[in-house]
Amino acid sequence: MQKILIANRGEIALRILRACRELDIRSVAVHSAADRELKHVRLADESVCIGPNNAHDSYLNIPAIVAAAEVTDATAIHPGYGFLSENADFAERVEQSGFTFIGPRPESIRTMGDKVSAIRAMREAGVPCVPGSDGPVPDDPDEALRIAAEIGYPVMIKAASGGGGRGMRVVHSEAALPNAISLTRSEAETAFGDGTVYMEKYLERPRHVEVQVLADRHGNAIHLGERDCSMQRRHQKVVEEAPAPGITEAQRRYIGERCVEACRQMGYRGAGTFEFLYEDGEFYFIEMNTRIQVEHPVTEMVTGCDLIAEQIRVAAGEPLSWRQEDIEIRGHAVECRVNAEDPKSLMPCPGTIDHFHAPGGPGVRVDSHVYTGYAVPPYYDSMIGKLITHGPSRDSALARMRTALAEIIVSGIGTNIALQQEIIGDAAFRAGGTDIHYLEKKLALD
Ligand code: ADP
Repeated sequence: MQKILIANRGEIALRILRACRELDIRSVAVHSAADRELKHVRLADESVCIGPNNAHDSYLNIPAIVAAAEVTDATAIHPGYGFLSENADFAERVEQSGFTFIGPRPESIRTMGDKVSAIRAMREAGVPCVPGSDGPVPDDPDEALRIAAEIGYPVMIKAASGGGGRGMRVVHSEAALPNAISLTRSEAETAFGDGTVYMEKYLERPRHVEVQVLADRHGNAIHLGERDCSMQRRHQKVVEEAPAPGITEAQRRYIGERCVEACRQMGYRGAGTFEFLYEDGEFYFIEMNTRIQVEHPVTEMVTGCDLIAEQIRVAAGEPLSWRQEDIEIRGHAVECRVNAEDPKSLMPCPGTIDHFHAPGGPGVRVDSHVYTGYAVPPYYDSMIGKLITHGPSRDSALARMRTALAEIIVSGIGTNIALQQEIIGDAAFRAGGTDIHYLEKKLALD
């Protein structure tokens, strides 16, 4: 692999650039007009402006990205997360144009991108799923009522093409079902261009526990343990950690092996994440992400495996550099997402950072593209970086996070740092194992 085009922005683009540097691979940054001053654009070997500010015309502009790869003689494209990372048509177009797509085969992205087909594939592979409709909800309202009665209320109506925490609705009673189905259908149609919905048992107090996998083109697949991402707001993760509190070695092996087997059965390659809800000692598959995730660093910290470098190696056709028996979970890691948002309303809060200071010390990692004088544009996601700490125990990782949060300075814009401090100091969170509704309930009480 000689030259990688990074089809993303922000912290993940910088993270990929750093991996390229380490592996001695040349890099091409592509950016929108608003993103000329991004750190990785300045640091990359080459850069190309691919369009105006709005993501639709730049980071989601497939012809412009492929053209940028052509003019710069890039040999591969890394999509990062978000944007085109789970777009099977993009992956296909990249490969058809003669470049290596650093990610799974387009067929895998397509199967997993439709949650109905993803759940079907998982059932076949022996991965435990949430009790549900086993396919799309039929148009006939009586049939839908019958399925819901069988699952038992409350149920959740979910868009087959949903993502980013959108396109789902909880239904508590028979009376509310028909309306909820038609509302979710029309919202899904508008947001994702696909009105297919399915039904799942709504779990009342689950945790979100997900398993990281890696697979190569030679049939090797491994899992790298799990992460707990239960601290959520509007179905969006706020704090993540690895390993998940209270998960035993036997549970880790059991669920990890199911995921690895599923990878083998579908001929999966690259990095991926199997997301589960975890309640009363049982795992229930909800979806698979066929890309690198925001929270990948906590797994890197506890395993010592560079997931981005490994994505690049397997895309180049090399075998995995790790065997399952090499993977050992050492200590504990926590990640806090730092967002540019108003501390009270939690609405996005773009603007110029007039002073930025990164924390440091043992076990502290900062994955962020921001610097003093950087203007956070209003056009994209509000996440401006991630603070990751690692320690020999969960307590030490949390103590390091508390110290890092007290040390970090991001002034000139609103951030969620105070909220993160509150979460890290929260007694229930410190005890470990809070469910996915905990943070919203806590915020509602404040
Ligand atoms: P998305 O692709 O939008 O992220 P997911 O299916 O991964 O959607 O679900 C996101 C979040 O929604 C989960 O982490 C969980 O908080 C909640 N959720 C999803 N399915 C259920 C369910 N069956 N019961 C309870 N909560 C759910």
